[in-house]
Amino acid sequence: MIKLLGIPFDANSSFLKGPAQAPPLIRQMDSDGSANVFSENGLEINKSNLTDLGDMTFENQNPETVYRAIKQRVDRELEDGGNLICLGGDHSISFPIIEAYASHYPGLHVLHFDAHPDLYHHYDNNPFSHASPFARIMEKGLTASLTQVGVRTLTTHLREQGERFRVRMFEMKDLGYDFLQTLQAPLYISIDMDVLDPAFAPGVSHHEPGGMSTRELITMIQSISVPVIGADIVEYNPTRDLHNMTAMVAYKIMKEIAAKMMD
Ligand code: MN
Ligand code: MN
Repeated sequence: MIKLLGIPFDANSSFLKGPAQAPPLIRQMDSDGSANVFSENGLEINKSNLTDLGDMTFENQNPETVYRAIKQRVDRELEDGGNLICLGGDHSISFPIIEAYASHYPGLHVLHFDAHPDLYHHYDNNPFSHASPFARIMEKGLTASLTQVGVRTLTTHLREQGERFRVRMFEMKDLGYDFLQTLQAPLYISIDMDVLDPAFAPGVSHHEPGGMSTRELITMIQSISVPVIGADIVEYNPTRDLHNMTAMVAYKIMKEIAAKMMD
């Protein structure tokens, strides 16, 4: 069984707010009338195989309080059985999610799609910033490996952080499909919607040109040949969207990941 959990939190966003409004809009795409609920490999994604847990609520917006609440909730859901797809929210939510996952899956491997490596040591004096989750994850040694794909915003500091943490980085400028054969299990996938070119996904806070196409991302997901045990889809920002088209992209990605997890 796979469970869907919305995490509507964007107080760790450095530039724009908005991703907190994302989960209900992504869900809504299954019933807005323009699409159906099948993945491309023919699987029907509905309540019988994807249990919707609804959205988390938070007592306050304090980054540390929210970090603990997310970690606790994911931990409890994994203990109860079944794996999770989480809908953000900004990318800061991936730190507590992956920390909870790491305690249930020793030797966890993480595949991270993003225009940004999110490896800043410090950003806005907020250790929980959405620019830093993978620095926190790597400092704590939570993963057996981190593979980043689609990165195209490296500064000198970020390049050094990548080397320091031995991140396997496949930059957008060198993009190919060969890395897919090197992935190991158990595999967790984190998808920042801004890995896509803004032409395909305008509803994100950070428009970074030169990204991948929706088709390339879907093909990569479908080509993964090891078991996928969890995923998050983050950084969809409805306030920047056009006719919910990025919500539909997020929904499509969610169906493809769900189908891969049910493989
Ligand atoms: Mn990110
Ligand atoms: Mn990003």
